[in-house]
Amino acid sequence: MGEEAAVAEVLALEIVTPHGTLRPRLRLPPRPMRLAELAASFMGFSDHIVRLAVAAEEKQGKRVTCAAGCGACCRQLVPLSPPEAWMVADVVAALRPEERAGVLDRFADARAAIEAARLDELFAAGRATAEEVTLASAFYFQAGKACPFLVDESCSIHATRPSICREYLVTSPAERCADLFQIGKPAVDRISVGVRLSEGLSRLAAKLLDRPMEVVPLVQALDWADRHREEGALRWPPRLLIEGLVAALSEKPEAPSDRVNQKVEPGS
Ligand code: SF4
Repeated sequence: MGEEAAVAEVLALEIVTPHGTLRPRLRLPPRPMRLAELAASFMGFSDHIVRLAVAAEEKQGKRVTCAAGCGACCRQLVPLSPPEAWMVADVVAALRPEERAGVLDRFADARAAIEAARLDELFAAGRATAEEVTLASAFYFQAGKACPFLVDESCSIHATRPSICREYLVTSPAERCADLFQIGKPAVDRISVGVRLSEGLSRLAAKLLDRPMEVVPLVQALDWADRHREEGALRWPPRLLIEGLVAALSEKPEAPSDRVNQKVEPGS
C-alpha cells in the first residue's frame, strides 16, 4: 500500500501594523529552514505592509512619486538584516552564469568604493552606531555607486529584492532623492510603514544566534555571507522561525528609524 501524502500544516498569523492588521495563513514548509529562506518567504508580506501604508498616505491626499526607471535610491548604502544578506547571496548564486558574472563585477566595483572610504572597517566590527551609519551612508552616496543589481536604472532582481527596497517609497518630488545629504536641501518625505520586516529579521537572528543586531550594507552582502556561511547554513523548525519572526515584528524598534530620510536606518 502506498504512503499517504502528508498534509501540510497551515499557520494562521497576525501582523499588526499602524495602518491595519494582516492575517495571512502560511503553509508550514515540510523541512527545517535557513534564515535566508525565512526572509525570502516573508518578502510578499512586506509588500502587503507597504500597501497598507500607501493607502493610509493616499487617504491624506498624498501620492507616491516613485516611478519606473528612477534608480536614485539605489545609490544609497542599502541596509540589510543578516537573513536578507544570506538571501541576497542565494539570489546571486541562482543567477544564470552570464548574469552572475556582471553582477559580481559590479559588487567588486562597489566594494572598492567602500574600501576607498574606509567604510569596510566600520561595518566589519558589526557594531557601528546610528550616527556612524548615517555618516557612512552620506560618504557612500557621494561616491555615486549604483547597486550591483541596478540595470538601465531598473532593479534586475525586482521579485526577490530586499524588504528595504520594497519599503522605500517617497511622496516628495522624485528629484529630491538624487540630492540627499545636502546641507540646506529639503529632506525627502518617505512613506512610514510602521512595521519593518528587516528589523524583525535582525531581531530574530540576533536572538537565535546570540549576537548583537547588525546592519549589512547590500554591497557587502556577499562578503559578509561568505564570512558567516556556517551560521547561514543553520536550519531551524519552520514554526519556530515563523512564529519567532511575527513576535519580533511586534517589538518596539530601538531607534525612531521612521524619522530618517535615507535608506540607511539606525538600529535596523
Ligand atoms: S536591490 Fe534593486 S531596488 Fe534594491 S537597491 Fe538594488 S537595484 Fe535598487
